[in-house]
Amino acid sequence: MQRTEKDLLGELRGRLAEISDLAGTAAILSWDQSTYMPAGGAPARGRQLALMSRLAHERRTDPELGRLIDVLKSYAEKLPADHDDAALIRVAARDFAKAIRVPTAFVERFSAHQSTAYDAWTRARPANDFASMRPLLERTLELSRQYAEFFAPYQHIMDPLIDDMDEGMTCASVRALLVELRAALSGLVRAITEKPAIDDRCLHGNFAEAPQIDFGLGIATAFGYDLARGRLDRTHHPFCTRFSGGDIRITTRVYPDDLTQALFSTLHEAGHGMYEQGVAAALDGTPLGSGTSAGVHESQSRLWENVVGRSLGLWGHFYPRLQAAFPDKFKNVPLETFHAAINKVEPSLIRTEADEVTYNLHIILRFDLELAMLEGRLAVKDLPEAWRARYQSDLGLSSPDDRDGCMQDVHWFGGSIGGAFHSYTIGNVLSAQFYAAALRAHPEIPAEIAEGRFSTLKGWLDQNLYRHGRKFEADELVRRATGEPMTIRPYMDYLTRKYGELYRLAPAALATRA
Ligand code: ZN
Repeated sequence: MQRTEKDLLGELRGRLAEISDLAGTAAILSWDQSTYMPAGGAPARGRQLALMSRLAHERRTDPELGRLIDVLKSYAEKLPADHDDAALIRVAARDFAKAIRVPTAFVERFSAHQSTAYDAWTRARPANDFASMRPLLERTLELSRQYAEFFAPYQHIMDPLIDDMDEGMTCASVRALLVELRAALSGLVRAITEKPAIDDRCLHGNFAEAPQIDFGLGIATAFGYDLARGRLDRTHHPFCTRFSGGDIRITTRVYPDDLTQALFSTLHEAGHGMYEQGVAAALDGTPLGSGTSAGVHESQSRLWENVVGRSLGLWGHFYPRLQAAFPDKFKNVPLETFHAAINKVEPSLIRTEADEVTYNLHIILRFDLELAMLEGRLAVKDLPEAWRARYQSDLGLSSPDDRDGCMQDVHWFGGSIGGAFHSYTIGNVLSAQFYAAALRAHPEIPAEIAEGRFSTLKGWLDQNLYRHGRKFEADELVRRATGEPMTIRPYMDYLTRKYGELYRLAPAALATRA
């Protein structure tokens, strides 16, 4: 009996839903590991996560799945390209073709190593102990190279690692973007650092932890982060994770002496969370049911955290509430002082605490270092020294130790080397490009933000980005939403306008982009 296309599509959806559920289950285990798991759970958790990734990989590479996709390709070709079913079959085919390149045993081995390295890093970083991490990191580099080899031939060994994060991009295209941006930023950074420093003392002191969390979450829910399908917990390294379309969680960290940590990490993760919550329900449980690329994802965290969350308009509305939440802190601090403080530009050692203008310099040097490691030009043992040299040359800073040097970010220690950081900069660039496009469609957005209303902006993002999930690749999504490919122009316009005003920069000082 001939099975109909409808039957086959039903079977495909069933198989993909199980893969999605395995990924969701692995996400639950990771979330628990980073939030509530006692230290004693680490060895078993590493095994459990490795088992989950093996099971998921076995299903992703099941030859039956491949045959099913092959049969359905002719059906997909009869549909319009932007039909949900056509996109589903296209993306499932792409995922399958990639997955079968990597042996299951390797996936399990790499996952187990990543858990071990992450666990060791959580102890080695506070102890400033790079020596103990060195063999683990050398193994990570070796495994990252082996992973890339499965995708040979490639133009550059970093290409497969970049493609996993930002499908369609390559080492060459990322490098071109970073080189262009670095040149464009240099004049702005120089002009600002020649100005007197902004006084940000109002952000430091002793802030009770519960009101910090409540206040950040209050803005996140005003943005549109839905607590009926999400929650906020505390962790070392804030993140957002998807268990299913109905359960998308975010985490934050609280520093009693720094108001900005919990506040802006909550807004950042809420941006990721709203993107995931906004994916059309019909795509849930399929490979389309998540954000399209790491870079586009980061554009949403950056848009809400920075473009909206650090704007004068937003704080015109929320500042009186902040003053009420911390009455003895901000009673005598004018709004403009607070707004300047949260936008202070200052070269600093820690990426996650960097301001909008210098942030990308942190990314560019990490990209260069992981490129050098992958290409074999830099040995792991020489990483701390190379790191210090780049912070000196690029940001004019000497890093006192490895804890706040090359060990500060989890990425290399709990993941792979290569493709780990560039998405943040793509996100910064796209955040301004998307926001500018939303403003062209709805010029009333800034006035609404000044009244604490975000539904027009959120609605535009839902309509043009979120609901599509992975239906369109990043490049196509950007073109559809903004009318052009990714460009640094709106981002540089945004930075020069905002920081030109804040630092009263003469237009001539900014004329570096000609
Ligand atoms: Zn992020």
